[in-house]
Amino acid sequence: MFSVGLTGGIASGKTTISDLFAKLQVPVVDTDIISRKLLEPGELAYDQVRGHFGASILNAEGKIDRARLREIVFTNQSEKSWLETMLHPLIYQRSHDAIVANADADYVLVVIPLLFETNFQALVDRILVVDCLPAQQIERLVRRDHIDESLALKMLSQQLQNSERIARAHDIIDNRSAEADLESQVEILHNRYLELSRV
Ligand code: ATP
Repeated sequence: MFSVGLTGGIASGKTTISDLFAKLQVPVVDTDIISRKLLEPGELAYDQVRGHFGASILNAEGKIDRARLREIVFTNQSEKSWLETMLHPLIYQRSHDAIVANADADYVLVVIPLLFETNFQALVDRILVVDCLPAQQIERLVRRDHIDESLALKMLSQQLQNSERIARAHDIIDNRSAEADLESQVEILHNRYLELSRV
């Protein structure tokens, strides 16, 4: 089963790009969606988080308050490590299962925001990195999430630099210009992946 991991910094355009692959009927496995699902009531990670942080981590509906959880791990390194050590193997296994479940497709696109940071390379055969300028990431993040520029800058500073991702990419998609310019790049990559999947 051929799989391509799509990664890139925050607000670099991963979802925009994976939507274009999905339009070409490529199955998309999104590790962010898997992670969110794992934190829903009844799921393994829900019980772990509730047990670790106590009931104060739940909102009025009894669900995990994701904003609160994000805030805790953003400011506390040991809690961040605890969460990642618990969550990452679960995300890896679910992603692997989702790839295998699409065995009849030519290839699967797996969106993995923290591909290098989490060492998820073994999950995929090929790595596609989205590139754009840090200033564009900040601008797009502020516009999309209505957050302060200072918070956006802080979020960006906690990530790998784009150049570090690019150095480890098999393919690069350039998202420095208009969104409309992505479609033709995705088509070229799609044809490349179809060929590679048949080797
Ligand atoms: P995250 O890391 O938060 O998951 P992401 O990498 O999936 O984000 P997107 O959500 O696809 O990024 O894009 C971030 C924002 O930037 C979105 O609002 C999207 O519409 C916008 N955007 C993406 N590409 C471009 C572009 N080339 N020009 C202008 N805006 C863009």
